[in-house]
Amino acid sequence: MTHQKKDKKAVVIGAGMAGLSSAIRLASRGVRVTVYDQQGTYGGKMGVWEQDGYRYDTGPSLFTMPQYVNELLSIDGKSDVDFKYMELQSICNYFWEDGTRMKATKDIEQLKEEFLKQLGEPNENIEDFLTDSKTKFEITNHVFLEKSLHKLRTYLSWGTLKSFFSLSKVEVFKNMNARNEQRFKNPKTVQFFNRYATYNGSNPYEAPATLNVIPHYEFGFGAFFPEKGIRSIADALYQKACLLGVEFEFDTRISKVAKVGKGYTVNEGEVVDIVVCNMDVASAAKGPLKDFISSKRKNYEPSGSALIFYWGIDREFPELDLHNIFFSDDYKKEFENIFYRKKIDDDPTVYVHISSKFKKDDAPEGCENWFVMVNAPYADGQDWENMIREARQHIITKINRILEVDITKHIRVEHQLTPELIQRNTGSYKGALYGSSSNNRMAAFLRQPNFSSDHKGLYFCGGSVHPGGGIPLCLLSGKITTDIIARDFNLY
Ligand SMILES: Cc1cc2nc3c(=O)[nH]c(=O)nc-3n(C[C@H](O)[C@H](O)[C@H](O)COP(=O)(O)OP(=O)(O)OC[C@H]3O[C@@H](n4cnc5c(N)ncnc54)[C@H](O)[C@@H]3O)c2cc1C
Repeated sequence: MTHQKKDKKAVVIGAGMAGLSSAIRLASRGVRVTVYDQQGTYGGKMGVWEQDGYRYDTGPSLFTMPQYVNELLSIDGKSDVDFKYMELQSICNYFWEDGTRMKATKDIEQLKEEFLKQLGEPNENIEDFLTDSKTKFEITNHVFLEKSLHKLRTYLSWGTLKSFFSLSKVEVFKNMNARNEQRFKNPKTVQFFNRYATYNGSNPYEAPATLNVIPHYEFGFGAFFPEKGIRSIADALYQKACLLGVEFEFDTRISKVAKVGKGYTVNEGEVVDIVVCNMDVASAAKGPLKDFISSKRKNYEPSGSALIFYWGIDREFPELDLHNIFFSDDYKKEFENIFYRKKIDDDPTVYVHISSKFKKDDAPEGCENWFVMVNAPYADGQDWENMIREARQHIITKINRILEVDITKHIRVEHQLTPELIQRNTGSYKGALYGSSSNNRMAAFLRQPNFSSDHKGLYFCGGSVHPGGGIPLCLLSGKITTDIIARDFNLY
C-alpha cells in the first residue's frame, strides 16, 4: 500500500446497498472511509421489522446475482464473514382469478412443460423468449451495467463497439407488451413475462422491450434465498466493511457538504478528499449537495412504488411458496391506474412473500409471516389514508376469492409500509423503489452519472444513479463509482 493511498479520506453519505459496496471497495484500496446514515442502522431500504414472534424483511424479497455480494465479501481474499444462501428450485407460484395456477421452476424443461400444461403455451415460444433474454443480457451487461455511460473511454473499447453493432437485438424502440403479444399465444403468458417490468418499477405497456432481459436474471442465473433472510445481506456487508476498517456514524443526517480547498467538509467536520453520495440524487440536490448538483436533478420521473402489508398469519398455507403472485384480471388497466391516474387499481396484482417457508423461525410454529405487496404509484399528494384502506380491502377480497378463505380471521399482527414512509425513512424521491423511471428508452443515459464532471472528488451511487435500482444494480453502481475514483486518485 502506498503512502498516498493511506492519506486519502472518503465520506459515504448513506449506508444503503450501493453505499456499503462503495465503502468496502474504497477501504480495500486503502482509503479511510466513514459512512453516515440518518437512520439508526445500515441497509437503507433493506429493513427489518419484528413483532410477537414474526420477523419480516421489509424491503427487497427477491435475491438474484449473489456473486456480486460474494465478490465484496472476498475482496481482500479472506472469507471472514459468514453468509450462506440457497438456490430456489421452485421460483414462484402464480394464481389467476379463473382458477388457473402454475409453478415457475428453475429447471427450464419443467418450466416449459408447466407453460404447456397450464397455459397451452408451446415449448418453442418459451425457448425463443429465454434465448432472446439471454442475448439481451450478453449485449447490455458489460456496457450498460458494468461501466459508466458518461465516460468516453467506455465507448472506445472493442466490447462496447461490438455491443453497439448488435443493438437492434436489444429492441430499444419496441414496446415490451407489444413485443410479448407478438411472441406468445396465451395472454396469461404475456402477463407472466410483462410482470418482469415491475422488477425495476416500470410499466410494461410503456417500457422498451429491452426489459425482456430481466427474466434472464431469474431463469439464467437463478433466484436465491439467504439462509438468515434478506437482511443478512446488509448484515454481511456491514460486517465486512467494519473488518476493513470502515467507520459508521448512524443517526447522523448530512445536511451540508462544503468545498474547502481541494477537499470537502460534511456537516462542517474534517476535510476529506472524496465524497460518495448514496442518498437519492433528487433529495441530495435539494439538500446537502445543492451547491454541487445541477438543479435539473431536483426532480426526476420516479419509478413506481409499492404498498406493503406485513401480516402475521396464524395458520399455514401449503399451496403457497416463498414467492406467490395473484394476478389482476386486467393488467393494462392496473398499470394505467398506477402510472397515469396515480392510484392503486381496484383489482391489484398481489405479491405474497413468505420467508418462514424457508426460515422457520420467522414465524411462530404453525404460522406464516406474510409480506403482502401491491404495485403503487409514487407519492404525489394522494389521499393515502383512503387509498390504503381501499387497497387493503381489495387485497383481502382477492386472496379470499382465490384461496377460498377468510384471511382477516387469521391476521394476528399487522404493519404497513407506504410510498410516503419509504420517502421519509430513506430519502427516496417520492418513495420510488428503484430511483428514476426506466419507462423511457433513453433512461439509462438520463440517469445521474456516477461522478460529478464539475467537482473533482464528488461521486454518486445507488438506485437513482447509473445503472439503476435493485440489489444487484446498486452493488454494481458502487463498483462503477469506485473504479472511477481509483482512476482519478491513482488507487492502484
Ligand atoms: C418494498 C421494496 C421492495 C423491493 N424489492 C426488491 C427486490 O425484491 N429485489 C431487489 O433487488 N430490489 C428490491 N427493492 C429495491 C432495493 O431495495 C433498492 O434498489 C436498494 O436497496 C437501494 O439501495 P441504495 O444503495 O440506492 O440505497 P437506499 O436503500 O435507498 O439507502 C439510502 C440511504 O441513504 C440514507 N440517507 C438519505 N439521506 C441521507 C442524509 N441526508 N444523511 C445521511 N443519510 C441519508 C438513508 O437513510 C438510506 O439508508 C425493493 C425496495 C423496496 C422499498
